[in-house]
Amino acid sequence: MIVFSNVSKKYNNTTALDNVSFKITPGEFVSLVGESGSGKSTIIKLIIGEEKPTSGRVIVGSYEVHRLHPKELPQLRRQIGTVFQDFKLLPTKTAYENVAFALEVDGRPEHEIEEAVMQMLDMVGIADKKKNFPHELSGGEKQRVAISRAMIHKPAVVVADEPTGNLDAKNSAEILKLLFK
Ligand code: ADP
Ligand code: MG
Repeated sequence: MIVFSNVSKKYNNTTALDNVSFKITPGEFVSLVGESGSGKSTIIKLIIGEEKPTSGRVIVGSYEVHRLHPKELPQLRRQIGTVFQDFKLLPTKTAYENVAFALEVDGRPEHEIEEAVMQMLDMVGIADKKKNFPHELSGGEKQRVAISRAMIHKPAVVVADEPTGNLDAKNSAEILKLLFK
């Protein structure tokens, strides 16, 4: 599913990754642990095509990410759900709208969108907060919206960059459970 072969990434004078190789197979759950600055976010940026390796190959599904043209990136990113430490929700949209927005771009009928979004919000336990804007949600609730948005497309791959970094212990445990479900 995800293959890194001899991947190095240099930013100016900093070597973020030095000859990294690994494989992640379908159905696998992998946690990447390392101190700050060790290159974890760089690996995620290479997977979603936000950065290109200095050398080596990055394969995600049928995509050779290191070779993709910027125009092909949206296609790749439809296969990947991404969750960030700082949530990255749209501040002027409600919880519901933040998730529905991801489906509206495909032009699906409204009743299908509503059913899918409500099912997802229910699964993560915040259906009653659907009309709240991000500033009216706790950190744990915001991350539940972000997970809903990342998964609403049923992506082949979900990547999360320190998804519990801004959460307390109880919410961290619950968010990890949702991600690993
Ligand atoms: P982590 O997520 O594990 O904290 P990063 O992948 O963000 O690590 O960073 C790895 C190294 O690359 C760090 O030394 C960081 O300072 C450097 N780095 C990351 N992004 C950039 C960038 N855009 N420009 C220059 N250096 C960067
Ligand atoms: Mg990081």
